[in-house]
Amino acid sequence: MDQGLESTSPSDWKYLAEGGSTVVFTYNGPYNAKFNRCVLRIRKSFEDKPEGATDEDDLAIEFQRRVTSKLLDHEWLPRLESISIEASWLQELDSLSRDHRPPERQSSPAGSIDLNLRKAVLSENLIGGHGWAAEIKVIIILRNEDPSQTYIQPKWGFLPNPEHLSAETRDTKLNHCRFCLHRYQRSLQHQKTSEHYCPLDLFSGETGRIKQALSSLWDSWKSSEGHSNNLRLFSAGQLVDPCNEISLNHLRTSIKSSLPPSSRQNSSVKESFVEASLSILSRSPVLNALSRLQRSLDPLDIEGLYSLSQSPKSVQSAMHGEPSLEEWETFINNYLDPVFQASLDHRDPDPANLRYYALAYLLSASFKDCSIILRFLDGPETPPAISVIDLDVKSIERLKKWKNLDYEIATCFACDGPPDSKCRDAHSL
Ligand SMILES: [Zn+2]
Repeated sequence: MDQGLESTSPSDWKYLAEGGSTVVFTYNGPYNAKFNRCVLRIRKSFEDKPEGATDEDDLAIEFQRRVTSKLLDHEWLPRLESISIEASWLQELDSLSRDHRPPERQSSPAGSIDLNLRKAVLSENLIGGHGWAAEIKVIIILRNEDPSQTYIQPKWGFLPNPEHLSAETRDTKLNHCRFCLHRYQRSLQHQKTSEHYCPLDLFSGETGRIKQALSSLWDSWKSSEGHSNNLRLFSAGQLVDPCNEISLNHLRTSIKSSLPPSSRQNSSVKESFVEASLSILSRSPVLNALSRLQRSLDPLDIEGLYSLSQSPKSVQSAMHGEPSLEEWETFINNYLDPVFQASLDHRDPDPANLRYYALAYLLSASFKDCSIILRFLDGPETPPAISVIDLDVKSIERLKKWKNLDYEIATCFACDGPPDSKCRDAHSL
């Protein structure tokens, strides 16, 4: 018999975390073969609902099945299952969760749980169980002066193709990565930022630079008291609080037990974190795959995309109208087709391909906005696991917002940003 959520009590589900579009609960009730080690992802009121989509959560599952799973190793993607949810059950869960959710999240315009939903997504609990998990958040959150508005700004693992950059932004964008430019703008607004961390170090494939990136992530995590948003750590399913000694001690014990005995001596918890994370990241092709996808799906930069859309031969509607899943599938076939790829000239792009470039940019944004989870389970004998999460489909209506933000960030830096500390792209051609 198919076991539904109503066989559990809403109080069995504990609030875990939330992002811009979903709230995540973890199963915490009596033993249940179906729900133990599961999380439930529930959509918030969703402003970017794609055209024709009647159920966003089925869309998330279908988007993974038909699009992102064609581009990433299946082992890195979480198993997702659609599950029905009853109105009264959801209402009770919503009211139980209110005391646990951050007030600023609840008060943002799309911050409430969508009580009209009749489906949610069930997936494996990637941060639960024994052991520890490091979630490297590859997003930064920018809050405008208006605190009720939150934009999620994707993170980039590459420097843009210089071909279509304007004279005004060219030098800045070729010498500083998007993350570091954005950090400068945020620092002017006195927002918490991850100092010294540059994603191009993390994506470089060079041991010393990956180490430097991990070390900076740790330092920002500590100094921001866990709020830097680029790194979160969980130990035995609990979010680690860097200000809480007991919590840190748990983490210390978990990390050390995942390292070989020879590496457990005389190292601080930070050194152990860097060593364990480095060993998995430098052996796995995941960062390389993400950087390659981000770059190859964004060959024109947002500036080139918008210049192309101004061409008299381009069809303006190519920049509007949410793609259907069928259109996404056609897009993926073209992206993976060497003959189609050979027909594209990114230096002198054909306006007839504007729709292809717009969809590519959207998909690149999903890969810039995802998170990576590293899981270290039962000691050094069990190989650690990597997962890529939050690969949601982006709305095409965000393109304009991204273009304006890009210009704002680049010109703000060009005006009076620090000229030193350039970012280096190890994979640029
Ligand atoms: Zn950088």
